[in-house]
Amino acid sequence: MARTRCNDHVVGSILASWRYDISGISPEMRRDYEHHFTDCAHCRARLKFHRSLDVTLAVLTSLAVLFFLFALAVLQHIKPLEHIAINIFGLDIEDMYHMLMSAGVAGLIFSVIALALVLTATPAPSYLSDIASERAKHLEEHLPESIRSLRSR
Ligand SMILES: [Zn+2]
Repeated sequence: MARTRCNDHVVGSILASWRYDISGISPEMRRDYEHHFTDCAHCRARLKFHRSLDVTLAVLTSLAVLFFLFALAVLQHIKPLEHIAINIFGLDIEDMYHMLMSAGVAGLIFSVIALALVLTATPAPSYLSDIASERAKHLEEHLPESIRSLRSR
């Protein structure tokens, strides 16, 4: 992180307490803070850092959900092999299976809760949809004229 300093400490500390998220405040109030972001390289860098942190958390928690779903799916497929393990290896796989299954379910529930917390407590969803709409706008501007005229009809 660059060793820059905020050029307005009052605004800077307010923004820091909000984790540089101004999406929740009214548009009139937001204008001053947006102005500060254009002026202040320090806060701009912090804003970028915090939003990428939010996105990273959202990605990690959704990956955790996927991994636990995958683990549960794998366990479902192991079930038919149970009798082989008991008959051939003499293992009591039933207990093992139930332990793994409840660990998988607990992990899934935990990661879904974590994902929900990340999506509600951080501006990651609005940040991502802003990026998506910006990309869409950018793409539309670069479409060939013939396609654009088709779309406007
Ligand atoms: Zn600043």
